[in-house]
Amino acid sequence: MPEGPETHALADRLSTLLVDETLTHVRFIDPALQRRRDLLEGRRVRAVEARGKALLTAVEGGWTLYTHSHLFGFWRFAEDLDALPDVALPRLVLATVRGVSALYAAPSISLWRTDALGAQPYLSKLGPDVLDPVVDAKALLAHMRTPRFARRNLAVLLLDQAFAAGMGNYLRSEVLFQARLSPHRVLQDLAAGERRRLANALLDVPRRAYRAKHDDALPSGKDYLETTRAQFGFEVFERKGDPCPRGDGRIIEERLAGRRLYWCRGCQI
Ligand SMILES: [Zn+2]
Repeated sequence: MPEGPETHALADRLSTLLVDETLTHVRFIDPALQRRRDLLEGRRVRAVEARGKALLTAVEGGWTLYTHSHLFGFWRFAEDLDALPDVALPRLVLATVRGVSALYAAPSISLWRTDALGAQPYLSKLGPDVLDPVVDAKALLAHMRTPRFARRNLAVLLLDQAFAAGMGNYLRSEVLFQARLSPHRVLQDLAAGERRRLANALLDVPRRAYRAKHDDALPSGKDYLETTRAQFGFEVFERKGDPCPRGDGRIIEERLAGRRLYWCRGCQI
């Protein structure tokens, strides 16, 4: 699943196409949404933003389109409707004079009153977004004091969108490596300095991954990990058996919280 950096890069790409333009064509595959397309069609797009791994497209008139790609959803872009790839039937098409964007496979799509977005089930559970410029280490450290996180281990917490929105599986390995923390540590046992290292890594690593993204090579579907690897470079993720970049051991792979995690026992304690 694309993680925060890929979702934010997608929001940038969609913004270029949509923001301040009028939606000239809107099409949903879902009949109930299709009947409501007038809430979007003919209206000007005010903003496209990423929140965690969801994308929010706000239009004038007070409505926002919520989309979440989950495991298999992916976007494609084309100059006009006829040029859309016919790999499958798009679930959603948004067109302006600047071009066409289409969402495929099995995403979540819903329409919300912009002032009622707080009730959207996914958004209502999100913690601070590691890619939101207003979120800083102080905010993350305060959020870490939430009692329900105290007894959980870092391998679990770093996939929990309520703990840190926008985090995901490759980021989890890279954040723990930068913070020099074992994935088996429990949050309440971290010393103050260790918490600070964790908070800083939670901000640094996703933001570096985002800055490494190039518009012309946006990840889509299952390709995103390849693209991310090429652009960002991983220090430990999918590097099982390699020497640790810090020179004190070899990278190991463990399955933790159901996903692959890569780390070094030498420097992550
Ligand atoms: Zn090491």
